[in-house]
Amino acid sequence: MTYDVACPVCGRINRSLYLEETEGWMECEYCGSSTQDLSFQKMVKIPVIRMNQLKQAGMQLAAANA
Ligand SMILES: [Zn+2]
Repeated sequence: MTYDVACPVCGRINRSLYLEETEGWMECEYCGSSTQDLSFQKMVKIPVIRMNQLKQAGMQLAAANA
């Protein structure tokens, strides 16, 4: 997927950018400024489920079914 992005420095539209591959970085083809769209920064948030939380959830489920 490509994106059309307005350069925040000069306001010109840069077309067909592969922002996902560059984590949002683009180099404006008109003024040469390198800018980053922060919404494309890779999120390093991995949900962690601990075993005791799983057990608790199971027990609550069992109690609800009883
Ligand atoms: Zn520019």
